Amino acid sequence: MEVIYYVSFFLFGLCFGSFYNVVGMRVPLEESISKPRSHCPYCGHTLKWYELIPLVSFIIQKGKCRSCKQKLSYFYPFTELATAILFTVSYYSFGFSYELIIALTLSSLFMVVVVSDLTYLMIPDRFIVIPLIIIAIVNFLMKGFIGGLLQISYGLLSFTLMYLIMLLGNKLFKKESMGGADIKLMFVAGLALDPLLSIVVIFLASVIALPVSFFLLIKNKEHVIPFGPFITLGILIVFFTKLNIREIFERVLVLFS
Ligand SMILES: [Zn+2]
Repeated sequence: MEVIYYVSFFLFGLCFGSFYNVVGMRVPLEESISKPRSHCPYCGHTLKWYELIPLVSFIIQKGKCRSCKQKLSYFYPFTELATAILFTVSYYSFGFSYELIIALTLSSLFMVVVVSDLTYLMIPDRFIVIPLIIIAIVNFLMKGFIGGLLQISYGLLSFTLMYLIMLLGNKLFKKESMGGADIKLMFVAGLALDPLLSIVVIFLASVIALPVSFFLLIKNKEHVIPFGPFITLGILIVFFTKLNIREIFERVLVLFS
């Protein structure tokens, strides 16, 4: 029986991933999500229902448009598959619980941030505000009124911390060191985790971003590396493994005391 749930979460993830492609590509441009209907970016051919099946259509069409045979970006199936995997892992880790809602929300946030930040180097406020509201409501349901308020104060604290890091960065490098969205994302981190784990998120995001940025700087000579995907990935990793990271942290603290 259990397998049905896993398959369902995987299929749901594929569909949501397909939706996040559209949202991540269109919302930053202030375009409607529903109109015009999905079409080939090269020839404008409107996609039929059988060309819109997540992952399957891409594989059957061998990654090409049916009309003009242009190669389609691997980005689309990647987003669909990644969302499907994240949704399945969320269910595996948390079962049917309040945490599952937060895990699905954080996974969705990660995916839309990846699409929009990599494509346009920006993250619309809506992408951050909606998860904030969902997670805040779940916190109140899960932890009661005081607990919910406490989580909001954690969010504020993490936000402030990141803001101070940005000010310091601006002073040190004498230029904008971080985007406003990156700071707002730390509000999500604090709201879903706590201030201590938020610091772990910043650390983790930087550690992952460093080799990737290095590679991109050499390969593409790009000057701007979006940090949003790394922060949201950091939040995801810490949310899924927080107990272990906390343990490691406490052991390190014991060593120094
Ligand atoms: Zn085409």
